Amino acid sequence: MDKGELLYEGKAKRVYSTSDPDLYVQEFKDDATAFNAKKKGEIVGKGVVNNKISSVLFQMLEKEGVPTHFEKLLSDRDMLIKKVEIVMLEVTVRNITAGGICRTIGVEEGVRLKEPVYEIHYKEDKLDDPLINEDHAKVLGLATDEEMAIIKDYALKINQLLKKFFEGLNIDLVDYKLEFGRYKDTIILADEISPDTCRFWEKGTGKKLDKDRFRQDLGDVEDAYQEMLSRITQES
Ligand code: 5GP
Repeated sequence: MDKGELLYEGKAKRVYSTSDPDLYVQEFKDDATAFNAKKKGEIVGKGVVNNKISSVLFQMLEKEGVPTHFEKLLSDRDMLIKKVEIVMLEVTVRNITAGGICRTIGVEEGVRLKEPVYEIHYKEDKLDDPLINEDHAKVLGLATDEEMAIIKDYALKINQLLKKFFEGLNIDLVDYKLEFGRYKDTIILADEISPDTCRFWEKGTGKKLDKDRFRQDLGDVEDAYQEMLSRITQES
């Protein structure tokens, strides 16, 4: 399937039309941003890693009954996806405290949560993707009650599946962000699942193997992405 017109360019991906009106190509870039693009840089090879990791995880989730926009891996950086209307929510699930939850409710980093913490954020860069509740989402017309219930069910089911998958790789799945889309009157998982959108800590050492290495200037950023790819592809 050939790439057609460039339709959209985001911080980490480009989206192209194809000859099929129901399908797009998403291309993963090496560009890296953090803190709502206040910090910018490049992580060499990141696009390839994120494309391949997302492909493996989307296929695993599909097999386990979670519908996703994944159609096919096309090349190192390109993935064929279903055309969806993105729900303007960033859905976060947390298993261990880090990042936003430490700032929002004043907890220390590294606390293992007895139950996963589910959050929704308004996907709006101008407001720094604020944490909102379902009433806010309804006021803004972002999703219906029914859609939000489906999204929460999927997000928590995905948590079970991803946690188990990463346990097998000796990795703690600390937290992650998901985006969903509307496709032919259904809700499906969209965007990507990668070291850009998840926090991964090596069990035992606590070594961070995700975008926090870039956000916090920890060094060895490329190596961390490659390490996650090699663990994931060995498993699959
Ligand atoms: P936090 O709310 O702690 O900043 O992020 C929670 C999780 O969601 C982290 O794994 C983080 O990487 C991911 N996340 C949240 N917002 C964004 C975003 O705008 N872009 C990306 N790439 N990941 C995000």
